[in-house]
Amino acid sequence: MTVHFPFQNTYATLPEGFFARVAPTPVASPRLIKLNRPLATRLGLDPDRLETPEGAEILAGKRVPTGAEPIAMAYAGHQFGHFVPQLGDGRAILLGEVVDIDGVRRDIQLKGSGPTPFSRRGDGRAALGPVLREYIVSEAMAALGIPTTRSLAAVITGESVMRETALPGAVLTRVASSHVRVGTFQYFAARGDTEGVRRLADHVLARHYPEAADAERPYHRLLQGVIARQADLVARWLLIGFIHGVMNTDNTSISGETIDYGPCAFMDHYDPAAVFSSIDELGRYAYANQPRIALWNLTRFAECLLPLLADNKENAIEQAQFILGEFPERFTAAYQAGLRRKTGLFTERDGDEALIQDLLDAMAKNRADFTLTFRRLGEAALEPARDQELRQLFADPAACDEWAMRWRRRLEDEPQSAAERALLMRSVNPAFIPRNHRIEAVIQAAVSRDDYAPFEELLEVLSKPYEDQSALSAYADPPEPHQRVLQTFCGT
Ligand code: AMP
Ligand code: MG
Repeated sequence: MTVHFPFQNTYATLPEGFFARVAPTPVASPRLIKLNRPLATRLGLDPDRLETPEGAEILAGKRVPTGAEPIAMAYAGHQFGHFVPQLGDGRAILLGEVVDIDGVRRDIQLKGSGPTPFSRRGDGRAALGPVLREYIVSEAMAALGIPTTRSLAAVITGESVMRETALPGAVLTRVASSHVRVGTFQYFAARGDTEGVRRLADHVLARHYPEAADAERPYHRLLQGVIARQADLVARWLLIGFIHGVMNTDNTSISGETIDYGPCAFMDHYDPAAVFSSIDELGRYAYANQPRIALWNLTRFAECLLPLLADNKENAIEQAQFILGEFPERFTAAYQAGLRRKTGLFTERDGDEALIQDLLDAMAKNRADFTLTFRRLGEAALEPARDQELRQLFADPAACDEWAMRWRRRLEDEPQSAAERALLMRSVNPAFIPRNHRIEAVIQAAVSRDDYAPFEELLEVLSKPYEDQSALSAYADPPEPHQRVLQTFCGT
């Protein structure tokens, strides 16, 4: 028996200009590093078969499975504000789509599987470090409950790739509800190809917004839908301290999933201006800038749709602006509601927003760890004796004491028992996030010693981020000063 993928390839039925047909480039000696067995099962794939040598060859791009129609997708994009009319999948190849056990269509894509007509000067390959990084962070995001692309497998190719030095080559199998980005729309819009924009819009309406497809003004509804999902997504990012790092329009998914884990990072101490990416010199994609950038990217999306919104350009612009105006409200509502849950305020009172802002200000001023502050707040909500563990996180613990007094007074107005509140808070405040220093240690062990035990252990702890996991509790700790990672790299 061979490995069977029940492929259905709807994207490949779009006109030729949407993609280039290209097979993955065979590699020397693939070795499976990790298979996401639960995800494979959800996709209707047989994990045991994928773990055979044949499975590893498929996941490394050495063998094209039956039913696949491999393509590289065309797209454009604004990179750090500058428009590039042609980017495209330069190191990724879409094998095809499968419908998962929930009935959702998912792309199965190999990333790092060799050059394509869109590679420009790149080698089409990926190094092991960034592949492990994407695997870890995307699966952590999924476990945290945040919309994201997933990782089905990581293989090493047996070949090396040249970056600053020679590094082990690897391929990641990425699973997404689709790989259509804002940049995909820009590709056609920039060419004045309104028919292309319409075909693409119809494709994503059917695939991601079926309720809008049948509505009266489907393209208006599409714009609204993408705006709503992106507003919710970016709010979720802020609520767990996530910094995407490269929020270019080609990395902004139409389905509302987090996509493209390059130099992303979770912050340790709370700092609204936090930037980790080595290539983000101006802090364009800093933590607190992310909502503004998302709106900028969505404005580029709206521009692509203008010809579909109204016959007259001025009317179209007016309608687009009106819909874009929904973003700030939607984002703020999602973000504030999330902050309320994180602080244990489940009813609304005047002054709540200011109370929460004062906590954030005190955290910033005192370099308090973002994740641990909220986690310990939940514990302190139950047992005031545990205030000590909370206040320790603040450079000046008195700043925390003063705030906690006001907070406790406010909690008296809440209907829940302390135990109920603590439980609710635990369910939104993770103990474990993929901290940068842990990811670096995992990559170091894999690249220099071929040791994947730290990778496995980190994945294990991150798969249950809201549980205490006392045996692995050290993974909750922020880095020691000498372990701090100050910069992250895309590694492309
Ligand atoms: P990213 O920074 O991963 O969002 O990629 C931006 C663009 O660069 C996309 O068009 C990628 O396909 C392309 N790219 C990134 N790395 C490589 C590589 N090693 N070889 C070819 N193209 C690449
Ligand atoms: Mg990208």
